[in-house]
Amino acid sequence: MTKPFVIASKVPCLHCGSPYNFLVCHGGARLDGSPVNLAYQISCKKCRASGPVTKTAPEAVKGWEHRAEPRFDELLPDPLSDFEFEEGEATG
Ligand SMILES: [Zn+2]
Repeated sequence: MTKPFVIASKVPCLHCGSPYNFLVCHGGARLDGSPVNLAYQISCKKCRASGPVTKTAPEAVKGWEHRAEPRFDELLPDPLSDFEFEEGEATG
């Protein structure tokens, strides 16, 4: 029997591109069993890269996804820049 693997976010890993990531829960428990200082984080299953540590699971997913997407206000090389299509639209 294998444990079902739950992918925490659809956004692939920023480092290795692996779509397999999972939610990690950090934290401890008091002697009575009540959780204390819980923190969440998304980790890549393949390369172990991880997103920011947050207080809630949805925030951890958000943090991971934000990291995975480039900021559009920065100048980044565009893999689908127009020049690739110029040849197909040759004049004449
Ligand atoms: Zn990775």
